[in-house]
Amino acid sequence: MTVIAPGGHIGILGDGQLGRMMAIAAAEMGYFVHIFGPEEDSPAAQVAHRSTVASYADKAALEIFAKSVDVVTLEFENIPTDTVAFLSGIVPVRPGAKVLEITQDRLLEKTFVNNLGIGTATFANVQSINELVQAVKQIKTPAILKTRRLGYDGKGQVKITNASSLDDIWAEMKDAPSILEGFVNFKMEISVIVARSAQGETAAFCPVENRHKNHILDVTLAPADIPKRLVDKAIDIAERIANRLDLVGMVAVEMFVTKDNQILVNELAPRPHNSGHWTIEGCATSQFRQIIRAVCGLPLGRPDRHSNAVMTNLIGKDVERWGALLEDPENSLHLYGKAEAREGRKMGHVTRLMPLSQKPKV
Ligand code: AMP
Repeated sequence: MTVIAPGGHIGILGDGQLGRMMAIAAAEMGYFVHIFGPEEDSPAAQVAHRSTVASYADKAALEIFAKSVDVVTLEFENIPTDTVAFLSGIVPVRPGAKVLEITQDRLLEKTFVNNLGIGTATFANVQSINELVQAVKQIKTPAILKTRRLGYDGKGQVKITNASSLDDIWAEMKDAPSILEGFVNFKMEISVIVARSAQGETAAFCPVENRHKNHILDVTLAPADIPKRLVDKAIDIAERIANRLDLVGMVAVEMFVTKDNQILVNELAPRPHNSGHWTIEGCATSQFRQIIRAVCGLPLGRPDRHSNAVMTNLIGKDVERWGALLEDPENSLHLYGKAEAREGRKMGHVTRLMPLSQKPKV
């Protein structure tokens, strides 16, 4: 793979906070970033060298974008695969359409993971009310019905208990192709973020614990308080997934640790991840610098953690606490430049470091 040297131009599809933090890291490393996304004055465009505000279907705009950069990456996996295929005819896109096809569809994603011999919740494909009835018989309640595509932060998901009316629930899904998943009685949710270079070298950040509120990530504790055997297993799972995807870039693997210490994969995100924001302050190389290294064909940086960390998301009106948060000199505050603090919207985050000898605590 050709190396894109500092001074080169990186295109990023998607204009949210992940794109913003990728653009900042790229600029620190001497690159120019061109953001492509649908929103005016977006978090990412505010800090980029150049931006294009257009739909992902706008071929004319995509062509100009592709010709202005040396490589394209993304901050959001639900970019239409047609868009990525079109861009790939002009400029390298990392990760490519194949990785997106798998990670955009929960059925393909879970099948891919199971084919590697890695466990997931039990699941069944559901495309009709009859299939839903059959799937509930087979998987039993409680279970979760999820749309195959375009779900995030708990959107497009319904919990099914034995009191649920399947007719009502199926009507709510509006016939969207879905999967039914057995409910995992987990003791902890963790994630591992692993980068992979074009040479096949991988570098994983340590497993972290993720706690959610209203289906949205609330707090990440780095590292997760799990035995060494599970640390090694979680990293091995993430590396095997990255290798089998033949990924050039980064993948975040969300996993459940069950009460009997099994690890089940829940979801893959082929990009930097909210549960890796602590790496900006806590690691030798942040997830944002690491993805830039990977997609530019540079050697990966060390992912080692020099401190433990607690990262707390600022959701909606939480952002109004910025003044109080800044009064504590231990806090590293990050705000994403979003004008409107809508409910459930990720407005920023705050990271606190502690020595490696001290357990991260909320
Ligand atoms: P997802 O959109 O698949 O990442 O799910 C969002 C959150 O819902 C997860 O982080 C879990 O807290 C919860 N969840 C999702 N799937 C399951 C499952 N099969 N069993 C139990 N909890 C789940």
